[in-house]
Amino acid sequence: MPWVGAKGFASDTLETALSCYTPEGGRGSIRRLLEIRDIGAGCCPWWQCLFKREIVIVTSPDVVDTTSKLIGLDSQSHVSNIGVADYIEGLVAPAATRLERIEYVDRVGVRKVSLVAQFGEGGGGLALSAHMDTVPGLGWCGDPFKAKIVGDRLYGLGACDMKGPLAATLVAAFSYACRGVEKPLVLLLSADEETDTEGAIRIAQESKILANVHPEFCIIAEPTDLRVANAHKAAITFSATTEGRAAHSSTGQGINANISMIPFIHEMWGLYKELTGNEDHWDTHFEPPYPDWNIVIDNFGTAPNVTVPKSQCTVNFRYTPRLDPEPIIRRVEESANANGVDLTYWSSGDPLYTPEDSPLVQLALELAGEHEPVSVPYRTDACIFASTFPCVVFGAGSHRQAHNVDEWVSVAQLHRSVQFYEDAIARVCS
Ligand SMILES: [Zn+2]
Repeated sequence: MPWVGAKGFASDTLETALSCYTPEGGRGSIRRLLEIRDIGAGCCPWWQCLFKREIVIVTSPDVVDTTSKLIGLDSQSHVSNIGVADYIEGLVAPAATRLERIEYVDRVGVRKVSLVAQFGEGGGGLALSAHMDTVPGLGWCGDPFKAKIVGDRLYGLGACDMKGPLAATLVAAFSYACRGVEKPLVLLLSADEETDTEGAIRIAQESKILANVHPEFCIIAEPTDLRVANAHKAAITFSATTEGRAAHSSTGQGINANISMIPFIHEMWGLYKELTGNEDHWDTHFEPPYPDWNIVIDNFGTAPNVTVPKSQCTVNFRYTPRLDPEPIIRRVEESANANGVDLTYWSSGDPLYTPEDSPLVQLALELAGEHEPVSVPYRTDACIFASTFPCVVFGAGSHRQAHNVDEWVSVAQLHRSVQFYEDAIARVCS
């Protein structure tokens, strides 16, 4: 339990309270003295009661300890995140006013759950957004699910993206009740952010808490190296396939699926050259300034002496807020039609752009001690949430450390990000 009352202490210092404090189940992490009040004589039989004091202290989880526990719970996007969601639910339940589990089955039949937690009553206030899933932990030298601290670095799968930042939002939420605030805090904890953002879509469509509270602002806790990001890219993934017929290539009996795919790929190459080479498509607020047009070609392991039965070309298109994707989508569709290629595509939602002079960006800059916001080249759940309330991105670690073997996050940055979220709660919810 986060709340502990201790009666009868003479001093109003935190040290005295702590010296007498022995909570059930161990000492825990004691964050701050909450309240000292007179309770009158005779309230308890202890001699300390003569001093007529009651001291209430609050404990909350430690951000490094919580990050390490989250890393130990496998929530790669292709497995169920039920275990990590259960852990988080158990952690925040004593402090939360309401909790909501939004369960669903993903596109390949795996059970997933998004969580929404409300602290306090009323409407407005602040939302903190984080995701529970990670990319696959491939190629690690050691166990990716065993957190390891070396100097200032905490290593583990998702340490940076984003079990560290997720832990920071959970720890900050415990400060809510200490603030004497009037408006609610809401945690939006999604599944499948690393794949198709289904967890955030479910929250936006199904959460009764979100519908009732209508937060004024949202901070997305993705890694930004503690910079305030007010803009990021969105993504569209095109998937083109052609079918042939397998046969021994010497017989002439097969149909090679690549023959009809090659002209389509050639036109995708043309779009690559145009998007990366023509500065009309660039946005110098981003690094790199040109759109990402990543072409992936797959023959599913066909041997050289077999005619190719199936060919697939996938293109990941990341674009900035100032680029209209519709003409590009039309050109890909026209190319697919002209070349007899089956085409599907998935969109992450819109890019993020929250104006620099908006109250949220100005507040975030003030709390971070920064003068101007930055743009980041990846997408976040803001692609889903920003149409409902203004969003900025702020978190410990850098995307350059994310999705890597031996991913890590700075312990010092984790602590500073907790302070930032706590300050944001105090300012927005008061
Ligand atoms: Zn992330």
